[in-house]
Amino acid sequence: MAGYDFRSPRLYVEAPLDSGVVIGLERAQAHYLTTVLRLKSGHRVLTFNGRDGEWSATIEARGRAASLLVGDRTRAQTAPGNLHYLFAPLKAARIDYMVQKAVELGVSRLQPVLTRHGQVARVNAGRMRGNAIEAAQQCGILSLPAIAETITLAELIAAHDRTRHLVFCDEDAEIANPVAALELVPWRSPLAVLVGPEGGFAADEREALLKLPNVVRLALGPRILRADTAAVAALTLVQAVLGDWR
Ligand code: SAH
Repeated sequence: MAGYDFRSPRLYVEAPLDSGVVIGLERAQAHYLTTVLRLKSGHRVLTFNGRDGEWSATIEARGRAASLLVGDRTRAQTAPGNLHYLFAPLKAARIDYMVQKAVELGVSRLQPVLTRHGQVARVNAGRMRGNAIEAAQQCGILSLPAIAETITLAELIAAHDRTRHLVFCDEDAEIANPVAALELVPWRSPLAVLVGPEGGFAADEREALLKLPNVVRLALGPRILRADTAAVAALTLVQAVLGDWR
């Protein structure tokens, strides 16, 4: 079970956190606390910035504005995991969902990758960050994942760190036990999970990926999953077999 307070609202802020510091909140955050949650001055919340751990704080509301008076530290900063998530961009609602779920499932880096059969070429990095923050606030992690610039699959392959095991979710892989496939990866290896676009991978893309060292070709059962479902399924398997679920 989670060893932390998951009932108090948790707010991500950019400012340094320390006892006695007062942090003016952005309009949207002030609105969320005072109008959506109807919290009044003096109400306790939790706050974190990805660097200084988690702190308890009290709300000071003045009209539409609100600030936080930081109290005691509730949890020390934890190091992020080491799990990269590589994905072909999807249309808005699906990418929102996928980014939130990937963050809840503990990825440390979000890396959009353009592939031939992808239908979306542009990623809204600000929106992705907003979704990552929302998921982090909700699930209790203390560090935000890095959000990388979009690259092409060719660039990914050229720059791929060969010591990082690449879990390649391949809709064309023969059905095989995914747990057994992942168990072949040495414990504590740095990992990346790759999920393709709704159009799937092209034959030459698949061939180039399978030539890389330390690639695990993962089959996710006998049905074709939508990319956002594949993300949840693959990251769940990886966390259960090789990651922080054990
Ligand atoms: N249009 C493709 C399916 C793409 S599904 C086709 O019909 O063949 C989108 C992505 O989800 C795939 O590129 C793959 O990364 C992942 N995926 C979906 N189903 C999968 C499965 N059964 N096994 C492995 N990966 C899968």
